[in-house]
Amino acid sequence: SFRALLTDKHADGKVTSAVQELDEARLPKGNVTVDIEWAGLNYKDGMVLTGAGNMVRDYPHVAGIDFSGTVSASDDWRYHKGDKVLLTGWRVGETQWGGYAEKARVNGDWLVPMPKGLSPRDAMVLGTAGLTAMLAIDRLEAAGVSKTIGPILVTGAAGGVGTIAISLLAKLGYEVAALSGRPQHAEALKALGATTAVDRQDFISGPDKPLEAARWAGAIDNVGGPLLGKVLKQVHYDGVVASIGMAGGTDLPTTVLPFILRGVTLIGIDSVMRPMEPRVAAWKRLGELFDAKAYAGLVEEIGLEGLPEAGGRILAGEVKGRVLVKLR
Ligand code: NAP
Repeated sequence: SFRALLTDKHADGKVTSAVQELDEARLPKGNVTVDIEWAGLNYKDGMVLTGAGNMVRDYPHVAGIDFSGTVSASDDWRYHKGDKVLLTGWRVGETQWGGYAEKARVNGDWLVPMPKGLSPRDAMVLGTAGLTAMLAIDRLEAAGVSKTIGPILVTGAAGGVGTIAISLLAKLGYEVAALSGRPQHAEALKALGATTAVDRQDFISGPDKPLEAARWAGAIDNVGGPLLGKVLKQVHYDGVVASIGMAGGTDLPTTVLPFILRGVTLIGIDSVMRPMEPRVAAWKRLGELFDAKAYAGLVEEIGLEGLPEAGGRILAGEVKGRVLVKLR
């Protein structure tokens, strides 16, 4: 048997979770079984744990969109007992049982062999947040974002995607401006490599014009909503913006002016269904670039029991950096 955080929906519509001992026969279908060592907590996990967004079809459910660990059994020719692997996305933890358990059974197509340079713990410090930050940077570079014209603005800077994006951009030699609603974390973000801290309240309440003074060579946006609309007005000629998240809303109030007068490019980033080739390439690059030591102060470790509380906190925008779940 194995321990799992089982999430259930009650007759009154309320979604709650509790740690339970489960028999292995309850694992879903799949050709690879993994002994999970670490899982991560992402914004989407907070939604699944609280029932927000109605993403789960069948209850009881095991949440957790990311995990890392060791293969314990495999009918997939690519994986063998003892292999270190990681998994993010593919709707695992939403439509399939995920990582908040000591064991998972999954389709081998969804696994990534542990990249060189990363431990299973490092892989979950990164998780979906790290993969998404890397994919966004890959796309900014491919679109020709400038390293010299001005900083790259990172919004939602103190969260998971934000902090990892700052650390990777700084490592690659970009000037980085960190936009956060929590000024108490400004020093930590500068220690990570941000050159400027931007206060979210000051930013959003500044003068509002159809186009504003150009400040950013590009941006990585985790917030969406009116904040992304405002960012687009301040991007330099030929600048590039990657839209990742919706922590501040799903609408996008904008005009066409940034696009037709400044040639700004808006790029969408999806980490969930990203095909295997660019996915493995991004993980390889993370293994080369990520400085786990420099990031250590932004990691909080919890156990399965701590997840319901931490899930509420991430939705409230109160998590700093990354929350790791230790399974063994
Ligand atoms: P996170 O750790 O909670 O970070 C989100 C950050 O956004 C918060 O730390 C906060 O930063 C800011 N924020 C939260 N609520 C806000 C609000 N109401 N208005 C403005 N800013 C707010 O979450 P995450 O896991 O890094 O994910 C970030 C976003 O990206 C989420 O929306 C998530 O769903 C999305 N995401 C998308 C993909 C993809 O494949 N496209 C992958 C991963 C994540 P400050 O306190 O510093 O302002």
